[in-house]
Amino acid sequence: MSKREPIIGGNNEDEAPAGKRGASSPPFDEMLEGRARGDLPEERLRPSRLSEVIGQRAVAERLAIALEAARMRSEPLPHILFDGPPGLGKTTFANVLHNELGVELNITSGPALDKKMDVMPYLTNAGERSILFIDEIHRLPKAVEEFIYPVMEDFRVDVVLGDGMAARTINLPLKRFTIIGATTRSGMLSAPLRDRFHMHEHLEFYDVEDLARIVVVNAGKLRVELERDAAYELASRSRGTPRLANARLRWVRDFATARADGRITLKVARAALDMQEVDREGLDRQDRRYLETLIQVFDGGPTGAEALAATMNIAVDTLSDEVEPYLLRRRFIVRTPRGRRATSLAYDCVGLIAPPFDPLAHDEPAPRGQSRLFEL
Ligand code: ADP
Repeated sequence: MSKREPIIGGNNEDEAPAGKRGASSPPFDEMLEGRARGDLPEERLRPSRLSEVIGQRAVAERLAIALEAARMRSEPLPHILFDGPPGLGKTTFANVLHNELGVELNITSGPALDKKMDVMPYLTNAGERSILFIDEIHRLPKAVEEFIYPVMEDFRVDVVLGDGMAARTINLPLKRFTIIGATTRSGMLSAPLRDRFHMHEHLEFYDVEDLARIVVVNAGKLRVELERDAAYELASRSRGTPRLANARLRWVRDFATARADGRITLKVARAALDMQEVDREGLDRQDRRYLETLIQVFDGGPTGAEALAATMNIAVDTLSDEVEPYLLRRRFIVRTPRGRRATSLAYDCVGLIAPPFDPLAHDEPAPRGQSRLFEL
């Protein structure tokens, strides 16, 4: 088997302990000044050190402790599971941990590991204390998942050679390394796999303040001049998601170049986002289509994700991984045992009037001794 090159090599210059490095970010005004100098190369928007990570403070603090302990004991990091909607920083944290430790990082994903033999090279070539990042780990086939249980517990793989009576199992010892799993659906992970991760970190949507900081830092990296109000405008219209904030920043930058003098002012940011049909709440066309479908086709619900996805002609995974988490978080919709239901905020958002309270459309239990008229 040929030696697999690390996808990203280690980097341990500037090796201060993670805890000492601190998980704090510079004040907003200092960042605006630094950004105006525009002295960072383009296209490198992903933070590489823990001190550059903005927001997710509690997660960053816990990771700083795990890093410091791993360094002090010269051990690998514990296996870590990151969960949360797409674009919130799961890959970023894996990348930061590899940089902080100065170890090799290999990246793969659940759907790419179709058979046991697909995962084998990643295991046998993993260096001492290196990191194997498995994205979309909830999509690992069952057989592969079971194959990595002994890896995660005892750093060994059990390989069966031969068939029938002649079959024998060989235990292959591995180097001690760390598996970092990322998932948008932690609920789909089997309990045995979930339990083999020693740390479970849930990433939440970012507040406007943190997202504004990210926008300012990244405007610096993209070498574009950005006003403070415009940073807040972009942040409040990015669905609490750094990846979207980056995408919207790039669009606003293009708009500023093509339609203004290149500077992102509040007026420019607003015009650019309006043109992209991102509304004041940060919702895009797909979000509004979801709310309109739920309200106009399904009378506000409750209805199931499959029915909504089929009506909208989009994949149910896209709906539940990308569209719904933010709508739930902002309370445009609620989840009930019988499906999704629009709230009065959703009606406001699409410019419709919420119907008066209809007890049959809700899931509150019927008064005692009185059965529902009919069950859906
Ligand atoms: P995920 O793996 O959860 O889908 P990523 O880690 O790829 O998300 O994040 C998407 C982008 O958002 C990154 O390239 C980075 O620029 C930005 N980003 C994410 N989290 C942070 C953070 N905490 N601080 C600064 N930028 C971030």
